Amino acid sequence: MFENRQKRTELAELGEFKLINRLTKNIANRQKSTILGIGDDAAILNFDQQQVLLSTDLLVEGVHFDLSYMPLKHLGYKAVMVNLSDIAAMNAIPTQITVGLAVSNRFSVEALEEIYAGMQLACDKHQVDLVGGDTTSSTSGLILAISVLGTANPKDIVKRSTAKQGDLIVVSGDLGAAYAGLLLFEREKAIFAKDPTIQPDLAGYEYVLERQMLPEARVDMVHRFKEMDLIPTSMIDISDGLASEIIHLCEDSLLGCTIYEEKIPIDPQTVTVADLFKIHPVTCALNGGEDYELLFTVSQKDFEKINGQGEFYIIGHMNETGSERTLITNANESIPLTAQGWDGMKKKD
Ligand code: ADP
Ligand code: MG
Repeated sequence: MFENRQKRTELAELGEFKLINRLTKNIANRQKSTILGIGDDAAILNFDQQQVLLSTDLLVEGVHFDLSYMPLKHLGYKAVMVNLSDIAAMNAIPTQITVGLAVSNRFSVEALEEIYAGMQLACDKHQVDLVGGDTTSSTSGLILAISVLGTANPKDIVKRSTAKQGDLIVVSGDLGAAYAGLLLFEREKAIFAKDPTIQPDLAGYEYVLERQMLPEARVDMVHRFKEMDLIPTSMIDISDGLASEIIHLCEDSLLGCTIYEEKIPIDPQTVTVADLFKIHPVTCALNGGEDYELLFTVSQKDFEKINGQGEFYIIGHMNETGSERTLITNANESIPLTAQGWDGMKKKD
């Protein structure tokens, strides 16, 4: 749908310099902190009084993404968004990225342009500048290495390690949908492998598919917190599933926690897909991952600031050092949170 099938230009026809020029010709800089972008041996940036945050993500074809159902434009978009999410998770604003690209001659110039179109879309959404990168050949597949810079006032930066006993645990949106989308894509891929004449049957599942393919970094939350005059006490983005991320906050803050199944926001479409695959919906939220919502803690004195705001879901609280990390189920059972594999919650027929 997004791929340009009209023309195929081989990478060898262009060579490295012309390829870089072609991929980056539309890129303009918007951030005041970008003094010099693509074109020289290094970019030049100026952050004045702000602290600078830096994070990198490496995406490997066949490990982190599967091009049999992921359009290249979506891949570019998602690759940037997951990086921006890491900066948002520090309560900071992303400002620049660099892109490392290793690519085999299986890909055409047009295919790489699709990836760049997706990356630029994500950058445009958050006024992030693409200020450099590196391009090289790979013997197999595609590797994307993106680094992102962000800025914040030192007093606004939020780490994983600073939650306090009694703090409320909050998430910024519904969970498990991205995993539900992945289940559907994997199913369609398996069906297609058996019989390529069968058309994919994905109608009615648009929300979970989009959550899988086009995640949104919650940079808007960083602006919201500022408006609300709220600084979370700790924060992390949900890339690996709620259970694993809560355990990170607990481990790093040296605390226990209790969360409540009934409080975990799960979209009805996620529930439908979970039922289809005979998985408990809460397992999608706990162990699925790739939702890229923010998971954070706030002091109880800030309860009034977030209470009744539709956009926040209070799912539990942090407990004293040395206590368990526990999920209270709807049946009022107490289950220890583990970072993955959760057969106990598998639905029986
Ligand atoms: P060098 O040989 O010094 O590494 P390159 O020829 O690789 O320089 O890069 C030239 C310019 O193009 C640099 O500013 C670099 O940051 C930029 N660049 C190279 N590859 C990419 C890419 N894939 N995406 C964006 N910018 C790139
Ligand atoms: Mg280079």
